[in-house]
Amino acid sequence: MKKTIILFFGPPGSGKGTQSDALGQKLNLPVISPGELLRHEEEKRTKLGLLVSKNLANGKLVSDSIIDKILSARLVRPDARRGFILDGYPRNKSQLEWLKKKIKRISKIEDKIIAIHINVSDREVKSRIGGRRVCDCGAAYHLKHNPPIHIGLCDLCGKKLKQREDDKPKIVKERLSHFRKSIKSIVGYFKKNYTFINVDGEQSIKAIELEITKKINELK
Ligand SMILES: [Zn+2]
Repeated sequence: MKKTIILFFGPPGSGKGTQSDALGQKLNLPVISPGELLRHEEEKRTKLGLLVSKNLANGKLVSDSIIDKILSARLVRPDARRGFILDGYPRNKSQLEWLKKKIKRISKIEDKIIAIHINVSDREVKSRIGGRRVCDCGAAYHLKHNPPIHIGLCDLCGKKLKQREDDKPKIVKERLSHFRKSIKSIVGYFKKNYTFINVDGEQSIKAIELEITKKINELK
């Protein structure tokens, strides 16, 4: 059976999660996000999940070896036999090394391996993330694209809106610089060895989706 393996890359706020899901539905491939897998393990309170919770509670990052273990188990599930879409992985050199070996082990020469890079400028990322506001009730807003009716207050429950810690300018700047630093070698590797697609991420969600589909269809 021919496999299709697709990887999505893009800065925070580039909408790669949304695009992964859309493409997954279109191609009937599971979307695998290590972040979600970790949350799932935590919810189920598995051995690994408890270890993850403990690490996070102590302010530590989840180690690559835990992520790789969880990812390994996910990739052998039956729904990934035709391939899969990876969202949010690899994020650093050690994850890239792991994935290189993994891909070599699980793929054959006739398989399709495609890396998609959603290109968004730092300026646009800052405006997208900087405008996000959330409410304790779960509602989410954007000052520019989806503003609440009354400034600073939730439409649904009237509570005061907040900005997530992660979305504050200083943290966004750190997240961005971390992303730019690690993405170079990762993208370089996929460009050199596999099919690479660059997409303009500063268009509407629908337009990005169309551009991705068009470029994938042109590969055949
Ligand atoms: Zn609310």
